[in-house]
Amino acid sequence: AKDAGGGGYAAYDPSMHDAVVRRLELASDLRLALERDELVLHYQPKVDLRTGEIIGFEALVRWQHPVRGMVPPLDFIGVAEATGLIVPLGRWVLTQACRQAVAWDRPLKMAVNLSVRQFEAGDVAEMVASVLAETGMPPGRLVLEMTESVLLTDTDDNLARIVSLKALGVQLAMDDFGTGYSSLAYLRRFPMDVLKIDRSFVDRLGGESEDEALVRTIVRLGQRFGMHTVAEGIENETQLAILQEMGCDYAQGYLLSRPLPEPDATALLDRGLPF
Ligand code: C2E
Ligand code: CA
Ligand code: CA
Ligand code: CA
Repeated sequence: AKDAGGGGYAAYDPSMHDAVVRRLELASDLRLALERDELVLHYQPKVDLRTGEIIGFEALVRWQHPVRGMVPPLDFIGVAEATGLIVPLGRWVLTQACRQAVAWDRPLKMAVNLSVRQFEAGDVAEMVASVLAETGMPPGRLVLEMTESVLLTDTDDNLARIVSLKALGVQLAMDDFGTGYSSLAYLRRFPMDVLKIDRSFVDRLGGESEDEALVRTIVRLGQRFGMHTVAEGIENETQLAILQEMGCDYAQGYLLSRPLPEPDATALLDRGLPF
């Protein structure tokens, strides 16, 4: 901020000021975006690494801003969390994703991201239950993806939340697995169904790194604990082949398909992937 005293403009950084203004603008625009239907979901397929079949999708939110164009989630999810808007926004995403899954009328899984703030706001299980009821979504087809941070803060309350979610019959996935600080002990305490291997590890597969051993260990861990493993961010054939050889269950990534708007995702379902 600008120094109020005489002649001091030492700490004034115009680019920082711009960033603050931009965030404030985004926050107020975002409030309207929900009302104006400017948010849209794109769907990225998850593929069975043994059969090449599409077994489901991950719903990823985008904002079609009237002036800025397509705004990616990393530019507004943080603002939504800071302002609490993530709660109505997250509910909208969940509802929309469930509606789409029901409309596709196939035994596909639909994965939805749940942020920590959303997870900890009010009764998350009750929110999910009411969306399932409202949309007619079979609970067993819904996958909630959350990051390890959910396991690290407020542990007892969050364990209770996880247990209530599990009781609904939905599946729980640990997103960005390997990047956080969760210990193996957490994995035993929290009944997760899926481990998503973070893109940063998949990125370095095929190079000369230790990451291959790490990914292999995660896959084995999943097998040992009865959890499915999903690798995200697969961009080339080498990574795909390595993951297949390791026995990783499912894959997501640009090599297979980018996240697609609904009509393209539906077309992809009809024609399948050239695996
Ligand atoms: P995430 O949950 O880890 O999602 C994966 C991100 O990686 C997505 O970015 C996806 O488009 C991108 N991706 C997929 N395959 C590839 C690939 O092969 N290469 C590369 N470079 N990237 C790939 P996106 O859609 O921009 O989302 C970024 C993050 O924003 C997500 O990370 C998630 O944390 C958050 N997010 C997205 N939608 C939602 C939502 O509805 N609610 C919440 N709470 N967070 C969301
Ligand atoms: Ca995710
Ligand atoms: Ca990730
Ligand atoms: Ca993430």
